[in-house]
Amino acid sequence: MYKEIDLIIKPRCIDEYKDGYPLISKESITSWDKVSKEGTIINLLDNKKKFIAKGYYGKQNKGFGWVLSTKKEEKIDVNYFKVRINDAIEYRKNFFEDTSTTAFRVLNGEGDRVGGLTIDYFDGFYLLTWYSLGIYQFKEEVLEALKSLTEYKGIYQKRRFDTKGQYLEGDNDFVCGEESPKPLIVKENNENFAIYLDDGPMVGVFLDQREVRKTIRDKYSANKTVLNTFSYTGAFSVFAACGGALKTTSVDLANRSRAKTKEQFEINNINVEEQEIIVQDVFDYFNFAVKKGFKFDMVVVDPPSFARSKKRTFSVAKDYVKLLKEIIQITNKDGIIVASTNCANFGMVTFRDFISKAFKESHKKYKIEESFSLPKDFKVIDEYRESSYLKVVFIRKLS
Ligand code: SAH
Repeated sequence: MYKEIDLIIKPRCIDEYKDGYPLISKESITSWDKVSKEGTIINLLDNKKKFIAKGYYGKQNKGFGWVLSTKKEEKIDVNYFKVRINDAIEYRKNFFEDTSTTAFRVLNGEGDRVGGLTIDYFDGFYLLTWYSLGIYQFKEEVLEALKSLTEYKGIYQKRRFDTKGQYLEGDNDFVCGEESPKPLIVKENNENFAIYLDDGPMVGVFLDQREVRKTIRDKYSANKTVLNTFSYTGAFSVFAACGGALKTTSVDLANRSRAKTKEQFEINNINVEEQEIIVQDVFDYFNFAVKKGFKFDMVVVDPPSFARSKKRTFSVAKDYVKLLKEIIQITNKDGIIVASTNCANFGMVTFRDFISKAFKESHKKYKIEESFSLPKDFKVIDEYRESSYLKVVFIRKLS
């Protein structure tokens, strides 16, 4: 590895780092002049040159690197990653033992003290996602550590290293071991998902919504009509159908969503003919549904934080109230709206304000039944609550 470089922290940031704050922000360092190579190990010192923490340089949208250790003598080598990954595996022990769920997160970046890297498990296969060129410099060490600790079938990776976190297209995502079946069938609370580890940036399911899907299936779906907007591969629709929904309607703009959703239904033995899959802009679908007088008992809304289509751009922070108002119009009285967002720029309080505003402006009443944030495997540390991005609220429309 590269030699370690000392950087001086600005006085106002020293206490934060002493308390375990993991993000090395651009602003917290007096001068970055000495560092140019991604992956450089940096020692953060106070203005009297006293050691505070050790991390690496790796540019992401969030900052310039992550703290890896508060021990001065610690080497960032195979052994370092072995300890971190082993702790992470221990913490998810119950997940490894649970045969009804075979897909979950094993290491959650800074939540497991390795900012910039996540590791997901898919029935014996491991998927590494690298969020900067900096952390990618430790690929060999991480792989060696992971291999020594697990009985893996195969290992895959996604590289998302430009500062916008975008996936590098054209990558070969296979790393080593066996190649995974296409699709790889994994289980989540006894239902099936088709996973493609080597088919672009997304693998077919977002693991962070596991508890929400279970709740939809177990508590809210029986004999209900369900609309799933921004449905992607229809994961929420599958769980609604498995929970006894009368019918599901899945709406997504992407052409691929039709075949992907059909496949998810089929591998769960759900009759696709009884479900509706619509490839359309959701805002056009809302106009159509209002015109036709369609109403649903449950509407799920889980949009991307930002989306640009031919007709419009959508940003959750700006447009969620508008989106909810459309949905309120097509939800039955006593029906449920499952409102979700993975936008990290605002918290639950703001999200609840959006909900309140949308109902107020629609002159309707509501009650919050329950809410969710990230599940246990998406570990978050108290020193960095900012990484707890997920907010999901089950809202009952009362009038
Ligand atoms: N709710 C999904 C994940 C959504 S990912 C799940 O639980 O799996 C976001 C999806 O929104 C993508 O599939 C994308 O194609 C879709 N999308 C983005 N803008 C859209 C729009 N205007 N209308 C419909 N779908 C849209």
